[in-house]
Amino acid sequence: MPEKTLQQLLEGNRRFVENRSTLDESESRRKALAAGQHPFAIVLGCVDSRVPPELIFDQGLGELFVIRTAGEVLDHAVLGSLEFGVAELQIPLIVVLGHKNCGAVKTASEILHNHEKAEADIEYLVKELALAVEIGDEEGDDHLDRAVRAQICNVVEQLKRLPMLKKAIEHEELKIVGMWYDLDSGTVELVIE
Ligand SMILES: [Zn+2]
Repeated sequence: MPEKTLQQLLEGNRRFVENRSTLDESESRRKALAAGQHPFAIVLGCVDSRVPPELIFDQGLGELFVIRTAGEVLDHAVLGSLEFGVAELQIPLIVVLGHKNCGAVKTASEILHNHEKAEADIEYLVKELALAVEIGDEEGDDHLDRAVRAQICNVVEQLKRLPMLKKAIEHEELKIVGMWYDLDSGTVELVIE
């Protein structure tokens, strides 16, 4: 089941990239869903306006359970929402979706490198992204890209350690993967499984 849903998402992304989108947002679909939802995948993505999960995976009403925070940063509301999707809606797949040129990771990196403090609750985001920025700085040239990928992996690893999700994975009822989205080509790439 989790494997099949992963393929469904990747096929949807292929349709999006090839301009063959078929997502259903029709009146009949809306009415058919009014009594209940059975989304097949959870996407925890970034708030970036260029990365709307429904569009890039070509999924219509009722198909994706979407949570978005800047840089896919976690907090208790996010964790509770993920656990709700898995426990109450029996969704078999969680995708942590990062992307190219992530402004949240870039801003966090600049603030940390300048030893500054961000305003208000933005500082929470910066603190949560600090580990990824540090990993991104370790070697190579493309620090931002490395930091984004590190953040995707960090979040996936953190989710896999949550007792409720860990149990669902052990029972083969859930899969958690990380993906990276290319703003230019529109393609997603599996970063961690
Ligand atoms: Zn972003």
